[in-house]
Amino acid sequence: MKALTWQGKNSVKVVETACPTIIDTGDVILRVTGSTICGSDLHLLHGAIPDLQPGDILGHEFCGVIASVGPAVKKVKVGDRVVASFQIACGECYYCKKKLSSMCERTNSSEAAYKLYGRRTAGMFGYSHFTGGFAGGQAEYVRVPYGDVNLLLLPDDVPDEKGLYLSDVLATSWNAVVDTGVEEGDTVAIWGAGPVGQMAAEFSFFNGAKRVILIDGGHGKWRLDFVKKILPKLETVEYTNLAKGESVTSTLKKMCDGRGPDVAIECAAGEYAKGWAHYFERLLGMETDTPELVNEMITSVRGFGRCGITGVYAGYCDHFNIGSLMETGIRLIGNGQAPVQKYWKDLLNYIQQEKIHPLHMVTHRYKLEDMEKVYDLFNKRDPGMQKVFVQT
Ligand code: NAD
Ligand code: ZN
Ligand code: ZN
Repeated sequence: MKALTWQGKNSVKVVETACPTIIDTGDVILRVTGSTICGSDLHLLHGAIPDLQPGDILGHEFCGVIASVGPAVKKVKVGDRVVASFQIACGECYYCKKKLSSMCERTNSSEAAYKLYGRRTAGMFGYSHFTGGFAGGQAEYVRVPYGDVNLLLLPDDVPDEKGLYLSDVLATSWNAVVDTGVEEGDTVAIWGAGPVGQMAAEFSFFNGAKRVILIDGGHGKWRLDFVKKILPKLETVEYTNLAKGESVTSTLKKMCDGRGPDVAIECAAGEYAKGWAHYFERLLGMETDTPELVNEMITSVRGFGRCGITGVYAGYCDHFNIGSLMETGIRLIGNGQAPVQKYWKDLLNYIQQEKIHPLHMVTHRYKLEDMEKVYDLFNKRDPGMQKVFVQT
């Protein structure tokens, strides 16, 4: 079969490789029909994720048709059209029972993750041996462990290109909004206008936010115009084009009665994959650095405001403003890797009822054979490329 593989830092390649087979009784082999690329894949491309090996198949967002099932699979069958969750959960452990499937205790045994976080997270498709070494779905076929838990049936009125994004980005942005506690009447500031930030903005309005302010800049500034066309009520801040002496924090204060927004949500971090590098720097005894963004969030929101972090960080980000955090009652919330299974049925209903619109993000369509080019364009932040649908 064809599959997109990591070959080394900044190098990926579509290669011919062996088809997966059923290993455990709960496995499903999926014939992939659609996949996509995500900001998190860039952290892999850049070689910033530990334990990635040349030849590893990437891709954690995919849908397809079931080709074969193991003897213990009961809820789905051969021929079903389904979408997979990007995190791999068992459905039965302590965390899975609490609907915190992204912390599943049975699917990830990486010691490196334990050392870094103090606890393990669930396994993840196509995300290196650090998250369990599961082959990804930017391929013609993929093995889905615990198929009954990690696959959701797609109804006929939800085509692949609408259902695919239940894998990750829709659940992730929904989790960012509800976990950070966006409420009726809130003013919400969101950092990062990529697909996750875009949908978090749409979901904030959906959840009753009065105002949503989206922040981006540099290579990503075109995205502010792109999202604004879809959400006319949206307000934007271009951080690379602020008046002299102004900062994101001072701009947000001015926009919000001198107090700041009620809620801040971090959906950027892509440019901060160096957060991973900090981890290694620390191991090597080198200085760590501060992502200003976290301080921007803490100092921008109103007193007792809520800050949610959904963008991916690793290791230590020292020197953040803990004084401001404590003295002014700021709630800093790590949103975690999204527990997809907790949300995906509701989100599917919203798609069917046309209350949410995944196609708003989709700007490009490609085939699996084009995947090297997709990584290249996505990495260059090709103006106009928001979310891609890759047909397999
Ligand atoms: P993306 O890379 O497409 O978009 C990120 C955007 O952030 C870019 O437009 C970039 O210009 C912008 N940005 C960078 N630095 C900024 C700054 N200082 N201020 C404001 N904006 C800034 O990524 P995406 O696919 O939308 O994902 C966003 C983040 O969410 C990534 O870090 C990704 O790894 C993470 N993610 C988390 C989960 C989860 O479950 N927690 C799941 C998927 C993705
Ligand atoms: Zn993703
Ligand atoms: Zn579990």
